[in-house]
Amino acid sequence: MNVQPTDVGERSADIAATIAMTMRQMGVLGLPRNYEIFYEALSGANTQLSMDLLALGKRPKQDELDKLGQKYFAQNHEQGIVDSVRETIARQLEDITKILLNERTYLEKYGRILDQTAEGLNNRQLITKDLLNKIVGVMATATNTTIDHGKQAVETLGDRSAELENVKSKLEEYKKLADTDPLTHIWNRRAFDRRIARIYDSPKSIMFNALILADIDRFKAINDRHGHPVGDKIIQIIAGILQSQARDDMFVARTGGEEFAVIIEGSEDSVFTFAERLRKAVGDAQFGNSMTGANFGAITISMGICMATEADGPEDLYAKADRALYRSKVGGRNQVSTYSAPNGPQGKNYALYRKD
Ligand code: GH3
Ligand code: MG
Ligand code: MG
Repeated sequence: MNVQPTDVGERSADIAATIAMTMRQMGVLGLPRNYEIFYEALSGANTQLSMDLLALGKRPKQDELDKLGQKYFAQNHEQGIVDSVRETIARQLEDITKILLNERTYLEKYGRILDQTAEGLNNRQLITKDLLNKIVGVMATATNTTIDHGKQAVETLGDRSAELENVKSKLEEYKKLADTDPLTHIWNRRAFDRRIARIYDSPKSIMFNALILADIDRFKAINDRHGHPVGDKIIQIIAGILQSQARDDMFVARTGGEEFAVIIEGSEDSVFTFAERLRKAVGDAQFGNSMTGANFGAITISMGICMATEADGPEDLYAKADRALYRSKVGGRNQVSTYSAPNGPQGKNYALYRKD
């Protein structure tokens, strides 16, 4: 039986129904930010979050959920920061408008003085040395005042724009944080979803891009044997290996608990060669604890590749690369499969594999 990609959609619908029901049973409000917490916890993508949620008991309070949200999804829960930034910008713009209006009034006044002076100079009969001196005096004062005023305005505007620059760089820092996985410091799922969608923006980019998915082999056993914190450390190290092997134009993300994705340009052959390099680099690394002398043995990853040309869009591309990854898993793990390869185990138990 060849399972079609729609199965993945059905699975999402199942998860959505389970989440909604669980939230209702626990008396949790159906807010998007609560939904996000439950989604991450129930889909098993973030075990630490699942444990924290469990610790809140059968009827978690909203402020406890918000604290969890702040811990794991700062970007959605820090509306206060966004509001305060918006307020600062509005205030600064108001100040700048005032300064510019004030400046216009001054320049208009100066303009009037120049006009009057010019008129006076045109009326030749009336000009005496005395009058000329007066006119020059008035012009000099008006010019100096205007220059001083202009200088002040430039200084104040400079202060304002420095403050705005500051806000801008804070926002950029914040945006980067929202796209970064806190454990591994590589791109997170949110950034990945945006990046993969961009592949389908132009035929040229579809032509040259591919997706590699990687999943650590037998990771549950590693967690069970050595504990969750060791598991976390291993995820960090593997993320570091993948990132260090990648060229600058590649996009490396942690898309789930112990799952990674690389968006890469190249022919199928070159993408396969690169994936093999990643597989070897991880497989060759030594994992252990220098303090206790514990040796965790070799840790391997399985990978699946799909070329963007073989899929209709981002979801399809992900589903097909995932199916290739599944082939690597049932083929014995620690290997790379491509979606286009005709041989190897097909997707018979794919839905089952994706349920765990
Ligand atoms: P397979 O070879 O089929 O991939 O086997 P597996 O045991 O790795 O299976 P799977 O990929 O389905 O298991 C994922 C496990 O990874 C489940 C969970 O215990 C663990 N995990 C997920 N996220 C994290 C995390 O952030 N930290 C740690 N330590 N473990 C995680
Ligand atoms: Mg997995
Ligand atoms: Mg795994």
